[in-house]
Amino acid sequence: MRKITIDLNAVANNLAVMRKLVNTEGKVLVLGVVKADAYGHGMIQVARKLEAEGIDYLGVADVEEALSLRAAGIKTRILAWLHDPTDDFEKAVAKDIDLAVSSADQLMRVVKAAKAQVSIGRIHIKVDTGLSRNGVTMTELPDLLDQVLAEVESGSVTSVGIFSHLSSTGPKEDLAQIEVFEQALELAKAKGLSFELRHLTASDGTLTYPQARYDMVRIGVALYGLSPFSDNRANEFGLTPAMTCEATVVQTKRVPAGSGVSYGYLYSTPVETTLALVPIGYAEGLPRSASGEAEVSINDRKYKIHSRIAMDQFVVDVGNASVSPGAKVVIFGPNGPTADDLADAAGTINYEIVTRMGGRFKREYLGSIEE
Ligand SMILES: *Cc1c(COP(=O)(O)O)cnc(C)c1O
Repeated sequence: MRKITIDLNAVANNLAVMRKLVNTEGKVLVLGVVKADAYGHGMIQVARKLEAEGIDYLGVADVEEALSLRAAGIKTRILAWLHDPTDDFEKAVAKDIDLAVSSADQLMRVVKAAKAQVSIGRIHIKVDTGLSRNGVTMTELPDLLDQVLAEVESGSVTSVGIFSHLSSTGPKEDLAQIEVFEQALELAKAKGLSFELRHLTASDGTLTYPQARYDMVRIGVALYGLSPFSDNRANEFGLTPAMTCEATVVQTKRVPAGSGVSYGYLYSTPVETTLALVPIGYAEGLPRSASGEAEVSINDRKYKIHSRIAMDQFVVDVGNASVSPGAKVVIFGPNGPTADDLADAAGTINYEIVTRMGGRFKREYLGSIEE
């Protein structure tokens, strides 16, 4: 009735495309970002596929996500970067998870965890070069570097990496951030700290600023076959969308002209017509704000959802087309609208569309790697 298909072979192919792109001059590692259930694609399934493809690193926001990956048997290096003051760093150190450090407090928590585990914490210093989210400010950086150096010398931590994240505002702002990152690297070097992995760019920066790929790039949305740019389509980069969202028509009916359709009668039938009922609503992640804007495809023909999208269902006016219960409805995917189209209809970005699709959809994976 409702099906999301994830083509893991498309993910593997997108990884190959990005690897080829970044390895034209020298070796650049790829970190695959699988946070937020791999942008709605299934974190464990995607991570297993990426591991089988030999990805260099995996990235998540939370330690809890990293621990789920380890619990599923993932052995690849994992970096987690968004920490709550109560997150279990001891377990993270025990499970060999790399931790971003955005403050002296976080550093001391890693040190404490490493001592408790009689182990060495693996850290990546996160620098705020202008996004103003997490990361140590340039003002606080010198002190943090001194503390890191002391802890490295005492054998509590290894300073594996230093990194930052761009605001993707535009070339002027992004280049200014790259410049600040360079200053951070200079400062660390002057203090005698070296890093195996300097990393700055996500999908968009990796595609836009070859000079800023450093030792590793952190690729999320491009792995799922979507473009990080609102004015660029993924196929221009050779990327293939991995997610398809489909449903089946559950009921059709003939109605006379002037029939009000769905809540609030956003739409009334202009003439006698056939209405098709589709069992997908905002509970499945289809944005209610796309009512009157989004298109779906039924039997390879596109139709606008003129009426209000409800929690469980929406209605499509299919005119006099021969559509019966059981007919396939493509919400987005091959031969239908794209996730970008739905994002445009809902006034959002493709990232949000794929990440939010869920609810009662059944999932099917193509090209899975068994445990
Ligand atoms: C989410 C995230 C990424 C990946 O971004 P994409 O635009 O999806 O490639 C990279 N780095 C950090 C720190 C992130 O939070």
